[in-house]
Amino acid sequence: MTALNLVNVTLEYPDGEGTMTALDAVNLAVHPGQFVSLVGPSGSGKSSLLAVAATLIKPTSGLVVIDGVDATGLNEKELAALRRDKVGIIFQQPNLLASLTAAEQLVITDHLRGKSPKSAAARAIELLDLVGLADCAKKRPHQLSGGQRQRVNIARALMAQPKVLLVDEPTAALDHARSDSIVRLLREVCDEFNVATVMVTHDTEFVPLTDAVATMRDGVLTAPVPADAGVGAH
Ligand code: ADP
Ligand code: MG
Repeated sequence: MTALNLVNVTLEYPDGEGTMTALDAVNLAVHPGQFVSLVGPSGSGKSSLLAVAATLIKPTSGLVVIDGVDATGLNEKELAALRRDKVGIIFQQPNLLASLTAAEQLVITDHLRGKSPKSAAARAIELLDLVGLADCAKKRPHQLSGGQRQRVNIARALMAQPKVLLVDEPTAALDHARSDSIVRLLREVCDEFNVATVMVTHDTEFVPLTDAVATMRDGVLTAPVPADAGVGAH
């Protein structure tokens, strides 16, 4: 089964008297453990695609199917639950809470899902270890580097054991070495958790670390091609 399936998804935004088409009959199927890069010029619709896949925006038409569940048939409450349980979202800016330690950033997500705080604490430590931050569990955001904050962000997104991980320009605020290690970490996470991962990136250099690359242009998405086919090279 595909973990994420977008079928003929069109998204129109109001634009003056008319509308503008941000996503134009987009199709994308991502399997568990598959890592897809999404590239394309600024304004081409990449973030819109992630927002629709995350069920944060309802498409004008088409289907968004997450782990076999058609999100387009759900009400707001059901959507919120689907998002919470199945979708991990990682944006460019980690958006950590300034007053919480790294471990607490993770634990609080389980509180919000109504999970047992005790198991949450143990899992938070495990995940921080996995992202290479075993020693930083008690540090607050200002005591962490940009790369470390992004690692906390990634660990936090994994607390719910999502089926789908949506990552928007995770390296935009980082230097080259840190960017490289973040994409390698996402590769590991994708493999280890068997999570379907879509990463928007302007760094085509990192495309070969992923399985497939799809290109967005004016809301039209090309079918993904193998990432080592050289498409990311230009
Ligand atoms: P990308 O992430 O590839 O830079 P976006 O998905 O952010 O592209 O934007 C695609 C197009 O949709 C752009 O023309 C942008 O201006 C427009 N757009 C994005 N969000 C909105 C919105 N909330 N309302 C209206 N237009 C929007
Ligand atoms: Mg964007």
